[in-house]
Parts: sequence; structure tokens; C-alpha cells
Amino acid sequence: MKNYLMTPGPTPVPPEVSRDESLPVIHHRTKEFGALFNEVVEGMKYVCQTKNDIIMLTSSGTGGMEACVANLLSPGDKALVINTGVFGERWFKIIKAFGLEPIEIKEDWGNAVDIKKVEKTLKEEPEIKAVFTTLTETSTGVVNDIKSLGQIVSKTKAVLVVDAISGLGAQELKTDDWKVDVVVAGSQKGLMIPPGLAAICVSEKAWKLVENSKLPKFYFNFLTGRASIKKGQTPYTPAVSLFMALRKALEMIKKEGVDNVFARHQKLARATRAGVKALGLEIFAQAPCDAVTSVKVPEGIDGEKLKEMLRLEYGMAIAGGQKDLKGKIFRVAHLGYMEMFDTISVIAGLEIVLAKLGYKLELGKGVAAVEKELSK
Ligand SMILES: *Cc1c(COP(=O)(O)O)cnc(C)c1O
Repeated sequence: MKNYLMTPGPTPVPPEVSRDESLPVIHHRTKEFGALFNEVVEGMKYVCQTKNDIIMLTSSGTGGMEACVANLLSPGDKALVINTGVFGERWFKIIKAFGLEPIEIKEDWGNAVDIKKVEKTLKEEPEIKAVFTTLTETSTGVVNDIKSLGQIVSKTKAVLVVDAISGLGAQELKTDDWKVDVVVAGSQKGLMIPPGLAAICVSEKAWKLVENSKLPKFYFNFLTGRASIKKGQTPYTPAVSLFMALRKALEMIKKEGVDNVFARHQKLARATRAGVKALGLEIFAQAPCDAVTSVKVPEGIDGEKLKEMLRLEYGMAIAGGQKDLKGKIFRVAHLGYMEMFDTISVIAGLEIVLAKLGYKLELGKGVAAVEKELSK
């Protein structure tokens, strides 16, 4: 059976990227690795649209999030968390794990953050050191307005920290222009390589916090990471093969052009929404993002069964709902190495399985809507 990975991470890896990942491993204290490291960092700066330093970590995205908390804050600090879903909530949990009591703005899942609430909280709590938020909230399919948040937060003494783990390389993000201080990226989503790397951009304003931060850390210490950048190295043994994969993936993104990459995601997102709507289904997200589409499971259909049937009988993996949304939504990705025929296939798969489960639909209606949208 052929496998289709239509989940919002991990995402499909292009063959040329897999090829580079399988090249012979080189030692990480060599000029050769230094060249690889520098190319990767330059490529990451291009995708993040930043001139700021980039710290590369061998860890999944969550490790990158934890590193941000550990490096920016000190005991007793005030921090604001924007919770628009599972990943916003993850910021909250990480900060709590370090013994701090974050202030939280929680929106009903499916909504983006109301910028006015952030503005108000920052006025009431001028001691807030950092605002933690999410670009594309993968659990709900929502995009937050990072540009507006940047305008607000940059006027205060707080830094803006954005989890762009699923958003980077899928949803427009202009780190420097939008005054974002810290961006966290993960490797297995828009960057099109397997899981295992995280990258963090750090602005001058954020470095001041890092230099004064007193939370415990060792492996994830950004200052150690910054000291190694000059040498073209990481402080500890990096996932060398993933660096090789990432160099190729970044080269592909650069060749396509980052704005074209965003436009492709936007187009696939629009087509996916048109496809599911044509089947009489409803989009869950109020402000849908370009990385993943969340769809309400229709009345009388078992959402988990839908997902499992698609995977086990047809080899097509989509994602279900997480936490409170389990069984209530399913999520279809258009993220990373994906093209129009991937989107057509996943809507076709959904039609077949939904019909099998007894949902009333006209076969081909969703696919037709997708094709119409994609032909525009
Ligand atoms: C996937 C994801 C994470 C978690 O990353 P891991 O690599 O699983 O640790 C965090 N935030 C967002 C928005 C994500 O999509």
C-alpha cells in the first residue's frame, strides 16, 4: 500500500532531501561541518526573514520552546501566554514547570487571539518580560495576527516569542519587519525534513533577557550556543544527518522563493476549504491558517473511525482532534512538500471514507471544488 502523509507534522520528505540525509556522516568539529552549519543558518535566516542570530538545537520543537522559556526568564518574572489551543497551552505548562506563574489570555479554541486583550493586559501589567504566542495553532487550524502583536509588544519592554513550529515556511512571517523577537521553528513541518531539529531566532532585545536570565539550563543554554556560532559549530554533537537534509530543503525553498512557498500554501489551503465545504462540512477555525485545515466531524460520524479507516484501508494519514477536540474535528495538512495533487487526493480519500461511513454526499463534488479552486 502506498502511504500518504497528510498530517501537520511530520510531513513528507522530498526524495532529494532524503538522499542528502543518507550521505556519510561527517565529524562536527571540522571545516566541512562549519560550512554546512553556516549554509543552514543562512538558509534559516532567509526563511525567517531575519538578520538576527539563529540557535540550532538537536531536539524536537518542544525542546526549542522549553529553551526559550529557560533562556529568557528568571524566577519571579511576569510572562504572558496567549492560549489559542494545545500549543499555546504548552507555553503555559512549560513556564509553570519552571516554577513561574504566567498570566494567560485564553481564547475559545477555534478563535485567534483578540489583539485588544493583549494590549489591555500589557497596559495593566507593565512588568511583563515576555509574551508567548503561536503563529499557526496546529491543534485548531487558526492563525494568530503576529504582525499586530509585534506592533503592540515592541512598544513595551516585553519581547514577543512566537512558536512558528508548524507555521515557518507555510504562513507569512516577517520576523524583523514585524518586530518579532524570538521565533521557534521545528524541522518536521514546513521545513520538509524528519523530526529532530529546532531553530530559534533571537533579537538584540531578547539577547538582553538571555544575558540576565537565571532559570536553570545546560544543554539548551543560548549563550553557549551563541559562542559556538562563530566557529560554525554547535556546543554538543548535532544531528549531522539532519543538517545535511535541512541544507537541501532550504536550498529548495530558496529556489522556489519564500513568497512563492507562502502563495502555494495559501492556494492549497483555499482549495482544501473549498473541497470540504462542497461536501457540506464545516471549517472549525474562525481564522483559518495556511498550514492545516481543521474540519468539524459531521453529526453521526465517528471522527476517530474516519481517521483510522483512511489510514488503515487507504494508507492516507490525516490528523484527528487533540485533547478536548478529539473526535470533534479532523485535520488535513497542506504543509511543506505538498502540491495540488496531494490536496486532490486527500479530498478524494475523505469522500470515499465518509460515504462508507454512511455520510450522505455526492462522490466527486469535493474534488471538483478543489480542482476549480486550483485552476484559478
Ligand atoms: C508540532 C508543534 C509543536 C511541537 O513540536 P514537537 O516537534 O512535536 O515537539 C509545537 N507547536 C506547534 C505549533 C506545533 O505544530
